[in-house]
Amino acid sequence: MFNPIWINKYQIMEKTNASLPQVVIIGGGFGGLEVAKALADQPVDVLMLDKHNYHTFQPLLYQVATGSLEAGSIAFSLRKNFDNQKNFRFRIAEVSGINPETNTIDTSIGEIAYDYLVIATGSTTNFFGNKDIEHHSMPMKSIPEALNLRYMILQNLEEAVLKNTKEEREPYLNFVLVGAGPTGVELAGALAELRNHILSKDYPELKKEEMKVYLVDFLPRVLGAMSDQASSAAKDFLTKMGVEVLVGVKVENYDGDTITIEGGKSIRTKNVIWSAGVMGVVPEGVEKDIIERGNRIRVDNICRVSGYKNIFAIGDVAAMITKDTPKGHPGVAQVAIQMGKSTGKNILRLIKGAPTEPFKYFDKGSLATIGRNKAVADLGKVKFQGFFAWVIWMFVHLISLLGFRNKVVVFINWIGSYISNNGGSRLIIRKFVKEPVPHEEALPHSD
Ligand SMILES: Cc1cc2nc3c(=O)[nH]c(=O)nc-3n(C[C@H](O)[C@H](O)[C@H](O)COP(=O)(O)OP(=O)(O)OC[C@H]3O[C@@H](n4cnc5c(N)ncnc54)[C@H](O)[C@@H]3O)c2cc1C
Repeated sequence: MFNPIWINKYQIMEKTNASLPQVVIIGGGFGGLEVAKALADQPVDVLMLDKHNYHTFQPLLYQVATGSLEAGSIAFSLRKNFDNQKNFRFRIAEVSGINPETNTIDTSIGEIAYDYLVIATGSTTNFFGNKDIEHHSMPMKSIPEALNLRYMILQNLEEAVLKNTKEEREPYLNFVLVGAGPTGVELAGALAELRNHILSKDYPELKKEEMKVYLVDFLPRVLGAMSDQASSAAKDFLTKMGVEVLVGVKVENYDGDTITIEGGKSIRTKNVIWSAGVMGVVPEGVEKDIIERGNRIRVDNICRVSGYKNIFAIGDVAAMITKDTPKGHPGVAQVAIQMGKSTGKNILRLIKGAPTEPFKYFDKGSLATIGRNKAVADLGKVKFQGFFAWVIWMFVHLISLLGFRNKVVVFINWIGSYISNNGGSRLIIRKFVKEPVPHEEALPHSD
């Protein structure tokens, strides 16, 4: 019943043990890692595929984009992470399609066979079909994209210094963040801190008042998925830091020079950062009629893809529609982690012929930071904002980072920034040129 080998166009590669069922995991993100961990020391062969050889800690991407952290401190080698797991192998490969009828997948390194397949490909930026916005604005879902963003921000500040008039400087110093979820709010806060504490030191030629940060969302409040209390505290923090918050308005278009907003407002800007939506990354071969809202794959109560016996989908790419979750679970790391653990265990139960256990999400709460000493926390019925929430936010992020070195590096960086109010190196290692090409791999990162 099980495939003894995995088939590659160019070679036949032995499994760790030819008689064991092979579990192929597409994606080494939060969900994929947990599936592999749950299968450690079990009678299965685990093959993880990812287009990168590292895991990305996405919650801190905004600090890479604004120059406070180096890219390497939020990434961790997938091979190194499983050094001690004997039944684990990793290949860098981009998966283009799945073939459920032959239990194989098409990848950039050839065709690979599976006994059990876990799709953990996460999500990508959703521009809702607006090609102008897609071509001219900046997304931030990966390390290469965060580095592109960092270089763009720094280059535009350098460009502003060269301009003679306020009018000429304006588009380089206006920053517009579209989408007031945690990513938009955290970036807006980080840019406001750059303006308030760093601009006058690094760029004494530029006036603080000329750098403007706008946060725009068509929903009526910031941090729409959090409580009213968290939302209004976050808005207050941002406003006090000098961010102009425009909620309940829709962005109409952006042509690379001017962003137009419903109601007739337009802003001249070279800096538009788009975090207004995400959509699942679904490989070719998944039936169209099981794709739900947000391009997510419909799964049953054990994360098994609708209509298939041995294919699972977890995390951002999965939609488990139930009475309690009519829109599926939120696209957050904890959902992916818990789905990953549950799926790993259920695959083992299926192999042993034991009954499976339905997935049950345990919501540990939500945190978002706005800046120094400022964060909001919704932990069940307990809701609080300010310094204590900020300390908890830092603690949770530090313990969740992969790798001891990364934890130490990030902690030291944060202490340094707190003391000096001038953290990060803000280096332009390579020139960034915005091109209308697929975003993520537009310019591979070089530092
Ligand atoms: C900027 C930002 C900030 C965030 N902040 C928070 C936060 O504070 N708290 C929180 O809980 N959540 C946060 N999230 C959401 C959280 O990161 C996601 O919910 C989580 O990463 C989903 O995990 P996943 O395993 O489904 O996918 P991911 O972690 O995205 O992993 C997907 C993996 O699949 C790989 N992959 C994709 N397609 C292919 C392919 N075709 N072939 C091979 N490999 C592929 C990718 O390279 C990636 O490694 C944030 C997200 C972003 C973008």
